[in-house]
Amino acid sequence: MNKRSVRDLDLRDKRVLVRVDFNVPIKDGAVTDDTRIERALPNIRYLLSEGAKPILISHLGRPKGEPNPQYAMDPVAKRLEQLLGEPVLKLDAAVGPEVEEAVENWDGAGVVLLENSRFYPGETKNDPELSDGLAALADLYVNDAFGAAHRAHATTVGVAERLPAAAGLLMEAELDYLDSVLQSPEHPFVAILGGAKVSDKIGVIESLLGVADTLLIGGAMCFTFFKARGYEVGASLVEEDYLEEAKRLMEEAGDKLVLPVDVVAAEKMEEDAATRTVKVDEIPAGWMGLDVGPETVELFRERLSGAKTIFWNGPMGVFEMDAFAKGTEGVARAVAGSDATSVIGGGDSVAAVNKLGLEGEMSHISTGGGASLEYVEGKELPGVAVLPDREES
Ligand code: ADP
Ligand code: MG
Repeated sequence: MNKRSVRDLDLRDKRVLVRVDFNVPIKDGAVTDDTRIERALPNIRYLLSEGAKPILISHLGRPKGEPNPQYAMDPVAKRLEQLLGEPVLKLDAAVGPEVEEAVENWDGAGVVLLENSRFYPGETKNDPELSDGLAALADLYVNDAFGAAHRAHATTVGVAERLPAAAGLLMEAELDYLDSVLQSPEHPFVAILGGAKVSDKIGVIESLLGVADTLLIGGAMCFTFFKARGYEVGASLVEEDYLEEAKRLMEEAGDKLVLPVDVVAAEKMEEDAATRTVKVDEIPAGWMGLDVGPETVELFRERLSGAKTIFWNGPMGVFEMDAFAKGTEGVARAVAGSDATSVIGGGDSVAAVNKLGLEGEMSHISTGGGASLEYVEGKELPGVAVLPDREES
């Protein structure tokens, strides 16, 4: 990463506004999955160990620019305090005289957690006034919210333009792993793509075809490719508008692109629907392909063996239902068992890996769903672009 890192800053006694990603699921006033809080801890602990005073801010849910108790940060503060083992001073606003006063009077123990940034309409508009208000609270700014870096918001861009800024430890790890995949992968590099739509991932496919040796395709998107080849795909999900694009990609990719050989088909997308495992060109009329079949898992496993770098985005099937989860599980186990540097990106793919308890077997699990895909596509992330390069420091 060529961006200035939190490790390049002189932190002692400095107030540091830290953009974290605490956008966690909450049920009945309690955090139900604290993965994102856990992932933010190393950076927070680093700041504390260097004598800094961290003031944390995050968005949570979609409160549409106004305060909404349902999306208040209190449950996050509680969980953070337990995990961090340090006091968390949670404030009920993010800017304004009362916040400034509270920060002024803060004894400096532990961390301050500001209220949900999306309680302010200025957050998503990257409003100068909100950015000024936030910048007034601190001496330095650290962005550790990779998952929000693809948005040009007040807490990701506005504040970074107003304070000496740097990337946090998690942000740094995210960028380093994605760069190692995209810029200097060890070969063989095998990429796996799945998920719902080809249209979401055309840019990702193009970009990966430029660097990977093999691209394994599963999930619903394979049916657009099969249809483009002239196969009958029954009621499987097909994006008719992308048939030409799929054809073009197959021609461009040649042998690099590996499609499934069998699929698990069902009459309905339901857990207890009758299923049949069939060859990809034998899907019965009216049936839909909802997972890759066992022969495909075997084929993908063979292609993954010996890989030095693996990037995976998108489940192989409707993994949310047990009946269609085996393809995703098989591929996840193959990646987990591999010695390759393995990077997993994408909200649902990460959920699938977590559900299988395989997160510890992967080299890196990206916290940024949309952000990681945009990065792989080669798009510039506004929250990263705004951070100064290391040389400039
Ligand atoms: P990610 O979040 O990892 O980028 P996507 O959002 O692109 O992944 O896709 C995930 C969704 O794709 C899941 O909800 C899954 O059920 C769905 N999916 C995967 N395979 C199929 C299929 N064959 N038919 C319909 N939906 C599918
Ligand atoms: Mg998704």
